[in-house]
Amino acid sequence: MSAGRLAPSPTGAQHLGNARTYLLAYWSARRAGSRLILRIEDVDSPRIKPWATQQAIDDLAWLGIDWDEGPDVGGPSSPYVQTERIDFYREALERLVHGNRVFPCTCTRKDIEAAGSAPHFAHEGPVYPGTCATWSPGDALPVEGTFCWRFRAGFERIEFDDLVLGTQSCVPADDLGAFPVTQKNGLPSYQLAVVVDDAMMGISEVVRGNDLVASTFRQIELYNALGFDVPRFAHVPLVLGSDGRRLAKRHGDTRLSHYREQGISPDKIVAWAAHSAGLLDASVNETLASSIVDRFSWERLPREDIVLEETWS
Ligand code: GLU
Repeated sequence: MSAGRLAPSPTGAQHLGNARTYLLAYWSARRAGSRLILRIEDVDSPRIKPWATQQAIDDLAWLGIDWDEGPDVGGPSSPYVQTERIDFYREALERLVHGNRVFPCTCTRKDIEAAGSAPHFAHEGPVYPGTCATWSPGDALPVEGTFCWRFRAGFERIEFDDLVLGTQSCVPADDLGAFPVTQKNGLPSYQLAVVVDDAMMGISEVVRGNDLVASTFRQIELYNALGFDVPRFAHVPLVLGSDGRRLAKRHGDTRLSHYREQGISPDKIVAWAAHSAGLLDASVNETLASSIVDRFSWERLPREDIVLEETWS
């Protein structure tokens, strides 16, 4: 059976941009009759906030989104919080180590910045220069805590057909370079955790912001290396402030919890998101999230980033 997912990182409050992405994931999954899974992504950030998981759950429910599996409701793919799934990531890592798909890397960010070459994707770090890549299984390991495991990026062109952006392609070794699958503290990186989770949870459609396209190439390499089926991807436009920059604090308080506390109806935010996605007439100011499901189609979604003009009071 097909499945979609909502994957908040509890690094802080969820804001309008997140709301729009979650609503699109929800509409697409419900329209297709898919299961929808809520998963909490709390392994790869120093900024995890203990209060943010419950707040994200409350925000999603407030918007009128419902899900079939998650930390609050359980389900067959339990647990749904990444820090409780460490053994699965460890097992996948072992397979990558034995297959010589990864090498231990002691380079610091500074080392890579000094020697790496410019990536072909905006906002990605430099292409890893290959300093530690001569390691092979059986060689000694560096001291624990001083290295991460890094995936050997492939020289074959990777291509995928994005539901929003159309055909996307790159040569990972040239355009992105070897990338970490663990952190130096031994925990998995976002790239490894997300692939193991999406594969084990049977996710067939991944909906997320278009700032993650470069990550998708890396993840496709991991799906292939681990023998998992690759899901479909929909990378949706970001929401920008009126100055054309990514929505942030300087654009005012767009936290969903803020609107909630102000007593603003979630149906207004849903109507804005639906209108910006080509699914609702601008004259409708309020609508229920569930009422959009039948109208949903990826074809109607404008391909450009959205500039936020509305404010609610
Ligand atoms: N947890 C990520 C975020 O909140 C999303 C990652 C993904 O969808 O793969 O930005």
